[in-house]
Amino acid sequence: MREWVTAFVGIGANLGEPCAAVLNAVQVMACLEGVTAVRRSSLYGSTPIESSGPDYVNAVVELKTRLTAPELLAQLQAIESMAGRERPYRNAPRTLDLDLLLFGQSAIQSAALTVPHPRMWERAFVLLPLSEIAPDIVRATELAQVQGQTVHRISSI
Ligand code: ATP
Ligand code: CA
Ligand code: CA
Repeated sequence: MREWVTAFVGIGANLGEPCAAVLNAVQVMACLEGVTAVRRSSLYGSTPIESSGPDYVNAVVELKTRLTAPELLAQLQAIESMAGRERPYRNAPRTLDLDLLLFGQSAIQSAALTVPHPRMWERAFVLLPLSEIAPDIVRATELAQVQGQTVHRISSI
């Protein structure tokens, strides 16, 4: 039997009903076979940085999973599709984005999947919610490097 691995998923949405999409995605992830949701961060609001359109709603969720990283990515992409995710161009506004940030201690580099997520350390909208639920993972120096970015907590639950 496969071991359970701790994984962190970054969630973002800025089209449609972003709060509902983020919360619904966590519920759907928790229902996947071989996945348990351990904890979710608060919801955060962020101004689009590389993207455009309305402000984003962001969160990070910690999972335990017996899926492999590619299997988990496939499930995350299916959830994005269910939420109506379209990719008309790079960094387009989106109804739901699910990024696999960390998968245990794994370092993965394939055509379809890079873990740790290569841009997570540049993004306050990832690091703030991640540090809320996993303070040991994010160093103060890493948070300091993104403190100029506009991200604020919009709910404490
Ligand atoms: P960014 O990756 O900069 O946050 P994005 O989330 O807008 O940009 P997407 O269009 O959602 O990018 O994904 C593009 C591709 O990235 C996906 O098809 C997927 O195969 C690949 N990918 C590579 N590593 C990861 C990862 N860790 N999590 C999610 N997708 C990944
Ligand atoms: Ca992303
Ligand atoms: Ca993505």
